[in-house]
Amino acid sequence: MERIIYIDGELLPEAQAKISVFDHGLLYGDGIFEGIRFYNGRIFRFEEHIRRLYDCARSILIKIPLTMEEMKAAVCATVRANGLSDGYIRLVITRGIGPMGLNPFKCPTPSVIVIVGKISLYTEEAYATGLTMATVATRRPSHDILSPQVKSLNYLNNIMAKVEAMQAGAEEGLMLNDVGLVAECTGDNIFIVRDGVISTPPLTAGALDGITRGMVMEIAGELGIPLRERDFARHDIFIADECFLTGTAAEVIAAVKLDGREIADGKPGRVTGRIIARFRELTQTTGTSVSV
Ligand code: PMP
Repeated sequence: MERIIYIDGELLPEAQAKISVFDHGLLYGDGIFEGIRFYNGRIFRFEEHIRRLYDCARSILIKIPLTMEEMKAAVCATVRANGLSDGYIRLVITRGIGPMGLNPFKCPTPSVIVIVGKISLYTEEAYATGLTMATVATRRPSHDILSPQVKSLNYLNNIMAKVEAMQAGAEEGLMLNDVGLVAECTGDNIFIVRDGVISTPPLTAGALDGITRGMVMEIAGELGIPLRERDFARHDIFIADECFLTGTAAEVIAAVKLDGREIADGKPGRVTGRIIARFRELTQTTGTSVSV
């Protein structure tokens, strides 16, 4: 079945879903996006994703031409049109068409695109045995360069970091901030566990306010596992009992090696396993129905 794409109010077959070469989203990476998952016909943490999208739009002065309710309806309609009960939604807002030159105020109408499909970032084996990471030389930009909270259409910083990691033979790249503390991975937040306490870098360290990160905080609270937001360095990962990564696409996955060194015994840990089990339960049993 051909994929159906929502683009500016229309549901179109993939082959007809096109944007202009003069869209500043293409010319300058001027725009934002969201990645959302749905499970069993229910969109997981829908409100939070939509809210983050509108926050990012506000931050970069894009006025999305739909209300949040209209946006949610458009997303649900696109999921239904594709006949999937499980999958991934990519919501893209571009600055829109304008003349050459950076000036965004010459682009009168942002474009709204919704793509629905399947995604699998890592193999089943990686979920069972854990990921390998390499520290990359490419740093996360600090708050005075570009807010790490803006999920912009320019992901080159992350992409180059991912390339570095892969060329070093690892699956994910560990990204540090301008002072050498851990920020996050190229598309995931990072957590470590030591002596039964979970730690994750604070947003000020350059981490995205990940929705899966927020879920882990909730789950840890529910399971009575202490969790702290605190700065940490590579050293703390080397001496951790466990490490795991979170993201909408990656979900929750153990990381067992950094720069060729095993983290603890090099196997996914017990706390990670408990978090993953509860996370899976929540994805299967909660969310916003896509049916009308
Ligand atoms: N950090 C970065 C840089 C990301 O792109 C993502 C994925 N959106 C995440 C973290 C994880 O965020 P979330 O759990 O909201 O998908």
